Amino acid sequence: MARYTGPVCRLCRREGIKLYLKGERCYSEKCGVDKRPFPPGQHGQGRKRSSEYGSQLREKQKARRFYGVLEKQFEHYYEEAAKHRGVTGENLLQILESRLDNVAHRLGFGASRAEARQIVRHGHLTVNGKRVDIPSFMVKVGDVIAVREKSQGLARMKELIELSASKTIPQWLELDAEKATAKVVRKPAREEIDTPVAEQMIVEYYSR
Ligand code: SF4
Repeated sequence: MARYTGPVCRLCRREGIKLYLKGERCYSEKCGVDKRPFPPGQHGQGRKRSSEYGSQLREKQKARRFYGVLEKQFEHYYEEAAKHRGVTGENLLQILESRLDNVAHRLGFGASRAEARQIVRHGHLTVNGKRVDIPSFMVKVGDVIAVREKSQGLARMKELIELSASKTIPQWLELDAEKATAKVVRKPAREEIDTPVAEQMIVEYYSR
């Protein structure tokens, strides 16, 4: 259950875009991309060269970093997406969106995906009444996600549940903020996924 543990603002700066990996800080003037809008490292401000391959690679990295997924697992998701009927890029985004840590973040049970991931890891959520502490757990249509009763009293959890009531929740999820439960009503449509990636380029990257 490995994850990236290095500095995250660096990742946004590398991709030249806000990936919202730090929760509230991302909306403040402390945001690394706003403060230093160029790639990190000694040559960050140097000459930029971009090949077709380079652009495809960047899209893949961007998606991977946005969802906090490591290389091997991302590759595995791509293989899954390619096996299914439909548009592979869209399938891939649907798979990534179905991860429990992402769903928790979309519902507001975590200001960032990293926090949502920690909430899952610490066993604060249940799926269909059973405790699930695996961030990569895939939710399905009809699943009910809830904050465990015991956890609802925790200060941070209380705060997040309150905030979730005023958060814009994607329509493929149905949230009952009072009960801190939500249902997956359908799979997300592409236009409901605000991930800033050109998924077709990821498909091209893997089809080389
Ligand atoms: Fe990215 Fe957030 Fe850091 Fe800004 S503050 S660079 S959006 S992780």
